[in-house]
Order: sequence, then structure tokens, then C-alpha cells
Amino acid sequence: MMMALSLNACSSSGEGSIKRESWGKTPDGASVSLYTLRNAGGMEVKITNYGAIVVSMVVPDKEGKFADVVLGYDSLADYVRNNPYFGVIAGRYANRIRKGTFRLNGIEYHLAVNNGANHLHGGLKGFDKVVWNAGEEKSPDGPSLKLAYLSKNGEEGYPGDLSVSVTYTLTDKNELKISYAATTNKPTVVNLTSHSYFNLAGAGKGNILDHVLSINAGKFTPVDTSLIPTGELRSVAGTPMDFRNPTAIGARINENESQLKAGRGYDHNWVLNRRGKGLELAARVVELTSGRVMEVWTTEPGLQFYSGNFLDGSNLGKGGNVYNFRDGFCLETQHFPDSPNKPEFPSVVLNPGEIYSTETQYRFSTE
Ligand code: BGC
Repeated sequence: MMMALSLNACSSSGEGSIKRESWGKTPDGASVSLYTLRNAGGMEVKITNYGAIVVSMVVPDKEGKFADVVLGYDSLADYVRNNPYFGVIAGRYANRIRKGTFRLNGIEYHLAVNNGANHLHGGLKGFDKVVWNAGEEKSPDGPSLKLAYLSKNGEEGYPGDLSVSVTYTLTDKNELKISYAATTNKPTVVNLTSHSYFNLAGAGKGNILDHVLSINAGKFTPVDTSLIPTGELRSVAGTPMDFRNPTAIGARINENESQLKAGRGYDHNWVLNRRGKGLELAARVVELTSGRVMEVWTTEPGLQFYSGNFLDGSNLGKGGNVYNFRDGFCLETQHFPDSPNKPEFPSVVLNPGEIYSTETQYRFSTE
């Protein structure tokens, strides 16, 4: 059951707690809140109901020292002004749809085009730029915040009223669980993801090239120069996309290879090795100086690994930190890009009567 929190309310769930504070207004005058979820071990995650954005994730290192490991801003105004999707929930369709066009049941739909000729992350005003309804959820696992949004038929060109919810739960095991749900009243397409930019040494502490990454995938979806998949599922063997064994992100990133050139680095979708439909390990990242480890577990078939290639020092982030080229990386669990135009990819169609339901967990530990 969803419960509304009163102003500056504080309540506890298990050993953890959740606190709400006012975080100002959007230019349209909508009130926005900032929620702080805290677990028994002191891990803290701040989330705003503007864009369902994860604003901070404060996580211990191997000596028990805490640091904020996600890029972002100090104020709502900064997120409204110019956000390269720091921490957002991207939707209705995260990632790219070629030329913003697709056909469903014989009808051609035209979406907002906001990335060259293509549609990216839900369009001009995607789920990252709307105000969600927020309420505390009762969960035995830890403090939990449910964010809900009704995306109307025709919004950004998509068919159907889509009722979406995203529930963030912070467990005492230092896991951030993200559960997604959606229903529609007309056939539509849905692909939701969380878009945090991580730096496990601490946001603003330089580039992420020494982070050691493993991805549980034997194939990836090669792209054209506008980052639209060609449709091929290509083996990672013998390519810089092979992260089946732990490898530094920077080890091969500057190789003269056509896929890396197209992405200006890593900006590709990996086809996860999956055994079934449950939560499975998608990726693991280790930052050696802090000893922080992050694992990504998901029910989704794909993982977009983006190495922050479009960061250019123009974003003045939290605490006055400037984020430069490759100072953060994203591991976005999702369906494959441009799936609405690729019948051979796993389907992203949601029909009336069906429930879209996925889960992703970011699990933190040290070694
Ligand atoms: C995309 C990048 C894009 C970034 C920020 C990622 O999900 O793959 O190409 O630049 O989001 O918009």
C-alpha cells in the first residue's frame, strides 16, 4: 500500500529510515521533494521525485570511509537546466529508436526526435523531466520509496496511457533494488532504465579508466555511426568489447576499432548471458584504490555500458566538482536499442492486460 509522507516526515523500516525534505519547485510551479533512504550500516541514497533521479549514493570503502559514488548536481535548478541524464529513470523508451519512428500493429508512430535524427531516452520531455508522485512503501527489506507517473496517450508520440511505477529499496546488505512496473490501455512499447553515472572512487575524483569491469555477455549489438544497432548479434571474442574476464575500462578504449570510433569509446549494448527469467549477474566493477565493488543484477536481457564519452567539463556538479571526459560510467539494464524496429530482438511491446515488470539491483561491497 502506498502512504503519503507528511512534510519533513521521518519514519523507519527495519533498521533503516526514510526522510523527506522540500527541494523547491519546477519552473511550472510543481513542488519537488528530496528523500533520503538510510540503512543500518549508514549507506545513504538520496532520490528526488523530479525525474525519479538518484541524486547521491553514499557507500563505504574497504576502510569504512563513505563517499558519494554517483555524478549529479546540488540543486533541482541544475537538474532542470541541463542534465545529461545523471541518475534519471529514462523512458518511455530508454536508449535510441531510429529516426523516432516505428510500426506497431500496422500503425506508424512518430516520436519526438532529440538526438540527431533519432529518438533518445523518451524524447524532449521524457520520464527524466517529469514530476512523479512519491510515497513510502512498507518493505521488510529496508526503506523503500515508490514513484508513480501516468504518461498520457500521445505523450512524446507514444500510443496508450501508460501507468508506470518505480520502487527504490535500500537493503541492509548495501543493495539498491529498483523494481519497475507498467500497464497500458493500448498496445505500446516500454523500456525503462536507471541512468546513474558511477565513479566508485567518488564522484569528481577523476576518470573511470582504471575501474576493472566484467560483463556477463558473449555478444553485443554493433551500431552504425548514429549508435543505432545494425541488427547483428556479434561475438565479443577478439574485440575490445570482451569483458568476460575482468578488464580495466581504459585498457582498450582508445584502440583504432570501428565500434569504439562510432561510440567515441564504449556506448554499446551487451547481450547478457541468461539462464532464465530471474535476477542474474550482469556486470561487476572493482575500483582498486577504494576497494569498492559494485555488482549489477537484473531480469533484463541487455546492458548498455556507456563510458561517459560525452562528458566535457561543462557540467558543474555536486560540491563544485567539474565532470570531465570519462569521469563516470553507466551500466544501464534494459532491452536492446531500437527494438521496436528490430523484430529479431526480444520484444518491448506491452499490451493492455499485461504487466511490465522488471528488476535491477546495484549491490555494493568491498574487497
Ligand atoms: C547513451 C549515450 C548518451 C548518454 C547520455 C547513454 O545511455 O548510450 O549515447 O550520450 O546516455 O545521454
